Amino acid sequence: MKNFNHLFEKHELIINCKQRNTELCHWRPTGNIKATAGDNVCVSLVCARCDARTNVFLEHKQYKNHEKILLKEIENV
Ligand SMILES: [Zn+2]
Repeated sequence: MKNFNHLFEKHELIINCKQRNTELCHWRPTGNIKATAGDNVCVSLVCARCDARTNVFLEHKQYKNHEKILLKEIENV
């Protein structure tokens, strides 16, 4: 299973998973990606294990670096 945590490195993603308390949530993109004000991109994520959901905001440049891998993953969902 691919783990996207490293793409984001945001502290809000560092939460313990409800499924496995000793591990962090295992975030994957949901397919919901929106441009927002201020040149940011909002990417919706879901934990593959416990179904927790969150959004992260990436700078447009940062998003572009990851766009291919994100879109590829979304196609496979
Ligand atoms: Zn989780």
